[in-house]
Amino acid sequence: MTNYDVFNGDTDGIFAWHQLRLAHPRDAIIVTGVKRDVNLVARVNAVEGDLVTIMDISHAKNRKDVQRILDSGAIVEDVPNKLVVIGAGYIGLELGIAYRKLGSEVIFIEALDQILPIYDSEMTRPITMWLRKHKVTVNLGAKAKGATTKGKVTTVEYTDSSGKDHKIKADKVLVTVGRKPNTQGWGLEKMAVDMEGPFVKVDNQCRTSMKNVWAIGDIVGEPMLAHKASAQGEMVAEIIAGHKRAFDPVSIAAVCFTDPEIVGVGLTPDEAKDEGIETIIGKFPFAASGRALAMDAGSDGGFVRITARADNQVIVGIHAVGSHVSELSGEFALAIEMGARLDDIAGTIHVHPTLTEAFAESALAGLGHAIHISK
Ligand SMILES: Cc1cc2nc3c(=O)[nH]c(=O)nc-3n(C[C@H](O)[C@H](O)[C@H](O)COP(=O)(O)OP(=O)(O)OC[C@H]3O[C@@H](n4cnc5c(N)ncnc54)[C@H](O)[C@@H]3O)c2cc1C
Repeated sequence: MTNYDVFNGDTDGIFAWHQLRLAHPRDAIIVTGVKRDVNLVARVNAVEGDLVTIMDISHAKNRKDVQRILDSGAIVEDVPNKLVVIGAGYIGLELGIAYRKLGSEVIFIEALDQILPIYDSEMTRPITMWLRKHKVTVNLGAKAKGATTKGKVTTVEYTDSSGKDHKIKADKVLVTVGRKPNTQGWGLEKMAVDMEGPFVKVDNQCRTSMKNVWAIGDIVGEPMLAHKASAQGEMVAEIIAGHKRAFDPVSIAAVCFTDPEIVGVGLTPDEAKDEGIETIIGKFPFAASGRALAMDAGSDGGFVRITARADNQVIVGIHAVGSHVSELSGEFALAIEMGARLDDIAGTIHVHPTLTEAFAESALAGLGHAIHISK
């Protein structure tokens, strides 16, 4: 017997709050994610979930104008000769790099003065190296202002960092900015649910201010990641089933699937400093990892960096950049979650030859005696 119902659809009104209440007078979980803002050209988010959407932004006045590419086959058929990507955050870079690999000429327009603004410049340097090597143009401090389409060509207008206006012609434009929580147009306004800024306010069990109404995923705030949404969903299901649970991770790892990849969990050295924590930093380059060299992944500038408290060597952050480093994210998250100290990692025998040895070596570097690099 099914004892739950799923109301799924888009934001055009398939879901109405009273429908859910009628079906489920006891518990309801809100998980409507984010949606793109299609009102302003430069704020349109053309990428949604696992559907890749590419549009001529001059046509982006409503959802019907959005052309969706639903599978990788379709993407390959539709590779544009010249692609302008608005926004050099993780979504823009992941997709822009993928299109460059498929042969497109790719040009980024980014309003801030660095790519991937959530990472420090040490982390983003290997990505910048890749973009340069593959002749991807990145306009930093540049703001997209609008676009016009004539025939099959779209002209994007932007202002550069010195305030000078420019125009670029492109076959397609990928707009990766403007994701916002999906809190309007489906009945949330009529519910007694408190908000916290643009997000639904929840406690550490994902309870909203309304009895037996729960909210999880992107709609409750950062980090907007699939594995966080899943973990919250599992927790709420268990609480509804009568178990005692709370959502209290020490940290949640995030991966940027660029080339090379970036993994981050916990605090960066700058963030630790901002929190008044005195730190030890241990860093180990993949250029000194036998496995990375064997995989031709030792020359992309990648490394593992551990940030630990100076007083007791408890690790507060682990960051890595390099080919395939996403596969290390589980070990990094586990170390932080278990409250590992540098000597716990350094004292764990890591398999040779694997990339994980770089993690142990970075802990050894933090302790002042890495084996495969000199001080
Ligand atoms: C291009 C891109 C790449 C990403 N890559 C990663 C990644 O590599 N790793 C990662 O962890 N995260 C990634 N994310 C983020 C990840 O997709 C989200 O964090 C995750 O999907 C959030 O899950 P959610 O269930 O909160 O929302 P969603 O997955 O957005 O699900 C919301 C669902 O609610 C439905 N819905 C909306 N309104 C209504 C309504 N009124 N009635 C009924 N149903 C409704 C929607 O149709 C949708 O199915 C990426 C996001 C994008 C856009």
